[in-house]
Amino acid sequence: MRADVKLVITAKDVEQFNLVPGARLSAGIGWRSLIHRALLGLKGLPIRAIIERDGGLSIEAEGLSDRDRMHLLDVRMHSRYVCELCGFEGKQIDDGQVDSSPRARCSAHRDWRTSPPFPAGQPTDPMEARLAISLYEREFLRREALWSLGGCNSRELALRLKQLDLIERLDAQYPLGVAAASTVHEVASNVPHIEFRNEPGLRVRVCDIPEPWRTRMELASTGSTMSLNAFYLHDWQKFLALWEREHQELLRLQATLSEE
Ligand SMILES: [Zn+2]
Repeated sequence: MRADVKLVITAKDVEQFNLVPGARLSAGIGWRSLIHRALLGLKGLPIRAIIERDGGLSIEAEGLSDRDRMHLLDVRMHSRYVCELCGFEGKQIDDGQVDSSPRARCSAHRDWRTSPPFPAGQPTDPMEARLAISLYEREFLRREALWSLGGCNSRELALRLKQLDLIERLDAQYPLGVAAASTVHEVASNVPHIEFRNEPGLRVRVCDIPEPWRTRMELASTGSTMSLNAFYLHDWQKFLALWEREHQELLRLQATLSEE
């Protein structure tokens, strides 16, 4: 049986919180971190529903104080500007139809729905749908594929190149992150180099690296030292140089394969 496209949170996404049996869950997974923030603020109150309503995140719980209500309202207002699918910056989309309601979406997922029926153009393949909305999953697969290009047999190589083709298509169709279209050189020149007082060496702050490059760097640099929420400049530059080399190699392999 074919797996379903899963674009809304499940009980597993919020298993550490106090959900009442049969709690209603119908909010997009792009809001997962907002939902966690909302529920942490409720400090264990029983949760009856986590749903999307009129373009915003709506949480129903038992025993709410006025302060809790204000907290939920604050998260709800914020959710209106976070894409319900990918979690990046979004806005309220309203088609103005009598039977439609507003939704929080980024431009890449403007017409997407969180549940069937899916509109034409929205992937119905579960893996493709996840890769189209999850930056982490897309970059994880890219990193895995890039790392294995050098040492695999021709069958594996064809599979990896196919995965990288899919990722490139998704990058173009559903760009994730403000710097998705930036080149290595643009990113390199836009991220400031800083020096911490009493700490040797130049660094780049993690928060200064725009997405998707931050996630790419984090996935590629599991072995490098990070302290004070910053990478050493030489590790950052090493990563950017590696990225260039890998993509030149990828172009070469794609060209070789298309000639065969
Ligand atoms: Zn989005």
